[in-house]
Amino acid sequence: MRISEKILFIGTSMLLLKRKNTIQLSGIYIHIPYCKKACHYCDFHFSTTKYNSAEMMDCINKEMLLRKNYLQDEIETIYFGGGTPSLLKAEEIRRVTETIRNNFTVTEFPEITLEANPDDIDEESILQWKFAGINRLSIGVQSFHQKDLEWMNRAHDEKQALNCVLLAQDAGIENISCDLIYGTPLLTDEMWNENLNKIAFLKIPHLSAYALTVEPRTALHKMIEKKKVENINMNKQAHQFDMLMLWAKENNFEHYEISNFAKNGRRSKHNSSYWLGKHYLGIGPSAHSFNGNARRFNIANNALYIQSLKNNDLPFEEEILTKENKLNEYIMISLRTIQGTDLNKIEKEFDISQRKRIEELAGKYMYQGMIIAYNNYLILTDKGKHYADRIAADLFTV
Ligand code: SF4
Repeated sequence: MRISEKILFIGTSMLLLKRKNTIQLSGIYIHIPYCKKACHYCDFHFSTTKYNSAEMMDCINKEMLLRKNYLQDEIETIYFGGGTPSLLKAEEIRRVTETIRNNFTVTEFPEITLEANPDDIDEESILQWKFAGINRLSIGVQSFHQKDLEWMNRAHDEKQALNCVLLAQDAGIENISCDLIYGTPLLTDEMWNENLNKIAFLKIPHLSAYALTVEPRTALHKMIEKKKVENINMNKQAHQFDMLMLWAKENNFEHYEISNFAKNGRRSKHNSSYWLGKHYLGIGPSAHSFNGNARRFNIANNALYIQSLKNNDLPFEEEILTKENKLNEYIMISLRTIQGTDLNKIEKEFDISQRKRIEELAGKYMYQGMIIAYNNYLILTDKGKHYADRIAADLFTV
């Protein structure tokens, strides 16, 4: 799992999206908890030893069978995240997609994404993945600069960062997203510009760009504490975010979520479904699920996950969402998106007093040029996007 997934689950809440024909579309997320090496900044759930990976895949398939009634809806997206799902063999991917097709109703053309690291991508692997049904790659490039990649402790080098995209395109995969990280100590503005320009030059239609964050209990956190590496320079990071927004405008990328940019309509359907409040089923250790009223969090421990599934047990914790939770999560998620926060929806689904309260609180951000009100929506300006989470928290109800 990369930073993208983490952001999705920070205080997420979803509103039921009713389609005209009342069919609800949902997604399935499969967490593959293995990586070749630990990136210094990463606090996601993964293990660097794969000794129990065969058992893990049996358990992942078993969890899907045990939870096949969790969603009542058609599946329109399948997302292999991690960890590093590109470590899976093609037949393991195919087995998972077959289990899904045999036990859920899947739409005719589902988006099926594989998170892939550049060092796992070669001609053969791409063909195998395509054959297994993968039609979208989310590639963990992070940087096209060798020294930056070494600083992050990534498993790939700068040549692989570039070649993997060319290989995927040669194999006919057009729906490609790349992840980049900015605000790292070694990344100068010039290097950041070069990274962004490579995305444009390579005609990659989707970019997820994340500011480096220092999470507790990561190698990076310890290294900063011991003064082995420089801490994050917030001013530089903010400047690189401004560079990113400007680059997106100049290159016709739609800035449709704080960290996500799409061209030619290539938004991530799966990640958008989180932001639109659709339901999803999360399979595998540490995966999250949402059914409109509650969130489930699978245990983040490979051995205990396997042990439980062997005993036909589902190892999860559940949080039933109160109305306040739902409102706060809606504010948190919607404010990060291009659509913004729908005041009519708040009035209809929560209370007119909530609408009035939020409008009043938003007034000071409008005055500061951080929010605009448009057609009953509150939308962050570029200036406001720097403070998205802080502003959202200020609009929360208690
Ligand atoms: S590849 Fe790196 S960033 Fe991705 S999950 Fe593994 S350790 Fe974390």
